[in-house]
Amino acid sequence: MNRYRAASNVKPVWVLAATCLISARAACGSPLLDPQAFLEKYGYLHDDHLIHNAVEMQSAIQKFQRLSRLPMTGELDSATLRQMAEPRCGVSDKGSQQVWAQRVNIIFTARSSAGGPSWRRRKRSAIKADKWYKSHLAYQIVNWPSHLSLGSVRLAVSAAFQVWSNVSGLAFQEAPQGPADIRLAFYEGDHNDGAGNAFDGPGGTLAHAFLPRRGEAHFDKAERWTLNGHKGHNLFMVMAHEIGHTLGLEHSPVRHALMSPYYRKLGRSLVMSWDDILAVQQLYGKPPGDRLVRLPGEVLHAALQEWEFMDVHMSDKSSGLPLYCHSGVFDAITADPNGTVLVFRGSVYWSVSPEGRVSGASPLRQHWADLPLAIEAAAFSPLDAKWYFFKGKHIWRYTGQVLDAGFPRQSTDIGLPRHPDCAFFYAPLGHMVLLKGSRYFVFNLQTFRREPYYPRKLKDWTGVPQGTNGALSRPDGRLYLFRQRHFWRFDPVKVRVTRVGQWVKELNWTGCGVAPQGNDIL
Ligand SMILES: [Zn+2]
Ligand SMILES: [Zn+2]
Repeated sequence: MNRYRAASNVKPVWVLAATCLISARAACGSPLLDPQAFLEKYGYLHDDHLIHNAVEMQSAIQKFQRLSRLPMTGELDSATLRQMAEPRCGVSDKGSQQVWAQRVNIIFTARSSAGGPSWRRRKRSAIKADKWYKSHLAYQIVNWPSHLSLGSVRLAVSAAFQVWSNVSGLAFQEAPQGPADIRLAFYEGDHNDGAGNAFDGPGGTLAHAFLPRRGEAHFDKAERWTLNGHKGHNLFMVMAHEIGHTLGLEHSPVRHALMSPYYRKLGRSLVMSWDDILAVQQLYGKPPGDRLVRLPGEVLHAALQEWEFMDVHMSDKSSGLPLYCHSGVFDAITADPNGTVLVFRGSVYWSVSPEGRVSGASPLRQHWADLPLAIEAAAFSPLDAKWYFFKGKHIWRYTGQVLDAGFPRQSTDIGLPRHPDCAFFYAPLGHMVLLKGSRYFVFNLQTFRREPYYPRKLKDWTGVPQGTNGALSRPDGRLYLFRQRHFWRFDPVKVRVTRVGQWVKELNWTGCGVAPQGNDIL
């Protein structure tokens, strides 16, 4: 949030549907959006009283549409509501369009750039610009997210600071203890920044930060943070964005800017846009020797991937248990025709024999050479004895280790969703099933098309939660679905979930090696 805005918004930002049965988060996935609360929180509507007239609402929606590059209808159409539901930074967009216009204006009027430019002295601002008056800054990681190793978080944080020092006159150094200029911390829910700035669980607001010189960035601890191809949100990208705020940058309306308020994946393109560079240089000048270094996302991606691979081996070796048993997180799970369970995470996978013996991590692409760096869903189909892998908008089909001709194919061409949560072969239907959010899709492997009359609501699978990261059928015909540390066992005869538990402790066939315990909810 911006430090000039009083945290007076005491209304909860998200309104949960009243129909959630098991628990709010488990049953409903993402919470429903309250557009008015959204527009207040992000600075499009004033928040000093709770009633806004139609004209105010329309103009606020138009401002939001302009910054989000949507058609300016002034109405809460479906594209606008979809954009509001996108994961984003919790800092207000108030005034950012104006700051951006002034920034671009400076190029054309050729006024002096670095060193506290006068255009930043807006009415709501103090006389001095919101910047640091020194070029060497110390940062501290106050606490750590779950699911990621300390080493990889430290690497991601230092890389995130480096993208800024590479293009500006700033230099950063970690101060593990003692005083630091910029402090990075992970918090859950309300953390004393005012009720309007409480974190909202997975999705929605991912993080927020303060303009100088408070020097703080906060990250929602409930997010699934990742550093490479995993499902979840890339900590490096969000970290680099929030660091931008701690240096004095506001949101950018430029589509591929790091300072765009919406979450951006770490892709192949450059991490920094021209607008980010312009903004930081107008505050702190150019790097010494005027040497700009702009790393493509691809390079960072490969470095993080490599790091994780080392991490996986070190973790497996030191504890004797695979990494996914400690963190409780994997990307996909399936079983081969011999009953060997395969667990996928990032660029590696593990095999668990029917007796529960687990192999060391193997590189994914050593076995399936044409797959991407990581996958989102995997399923072996006993019907055609083939392997199916899903990532983004693509499907790969393998016979053993050989990619079938014509693959990868586009999921949308055959009526399947992009980025499925999980995929599994379901014998009672004789087809493959893909879950995605609140819906499921039935995929006919013989016609290679989605079955007609689908997708349908996930509610058909009584008790199955949204957002599962993997699922597979066991030899007894029961289906097991996984989300983080929990599993749901679905009985195809009773057509409902009959057991919920913690898979690391209770399912020894996952390779985490502890005797099973009963927890039946029948
Ligand atoms: Zn932001
Ligand atoms: Zn905070």
